[in-house]
Amino acid sequence: MAVIINSKTDIGLVRSSNQDAFFAAELEGGAAFAVVCDGMGGANAGNIASETAVRLISEYVVHSFRLGMDSFEAEKLLKNAITSANIEIYGMAQKDPELNGMGTTAVTALVEGDRAVIVHVGDSRAYIAGKELAQLTRDHSVVQSLLESGKITPEDAKSHPRKNVITRALGAEQEVISDGTEVTLKEGESLLLCTDGLSGFAEPSEILGAINIEDKAAAVEELVRIAKSNGGGDNITVVLLGLSERKG
Ligand code: CA
Repeated sequence: MAVIINSKTDIGLVRSSNQDAFFAAELEGGAAFAVVCDGMGGANAGNIASETAVRLISEYVVHSFRLGMDSFEAEKLLKNAITSANIEIYGMAQKDPELNGMGTTAVTALVEGDRAVIVHVGDSRAYIAGKELAQLTRDHSVVQSLLESGKITPEDAKSHPRKNVITRALGAEQEVISDGTEVTLKEGESLLLCTDGLSGFAEPSEILGAINIEDKAAAVEELVRIAKSNGGGDNITVVLLGLSERKG
């Protein structure tokens, strides 16, 4: 079994810079790792937060990954990578006034065999897509809290003035709490990691339709195209992971 990876990032139609960053790679034994980050902060700070987080988390995971880790160990690895990056980025933000207040989301996935372990902070999301689309992560955001307490409806959430405000971010505070989950990938299913430039600018049915295009390189292009056709108001990043029997 191998993991097929397709990915794309796009500035969108409105923003003057792309503050999203990502990394995705195959690891030993046909395992795979991916991380998607969406930075925030003035001027260049958002870029620096997301790029640094992607680099530090990736280095940590690639260095510490061992084949045959159980789910608990895999989740611990991703959480430790995020904690370690948090300390570094928070330290950078404290030292440099121009970086003060920067932070980033992070959604990470480690796939080995048919098991995917996902750990995240903020409102970048993971979905599993087969016959249906299921969201695997729960946003750490103001709007999500309002939704859960019944103060707003899902319809209100789409246009809520604070819809970009996240309640947890990597690098923003001395400590960060990440959430982990695990899912079994069946053949033909795909795991999607994305920023809110996709999830905020595409309906679940549109996302599912695009992911299920057989050519997955075309599928990531289509995801970005849909977000742009719906306004493209934010940077768009998508990483698509799927299983395939390795040939030869
Ligand atoms: Ca964003």
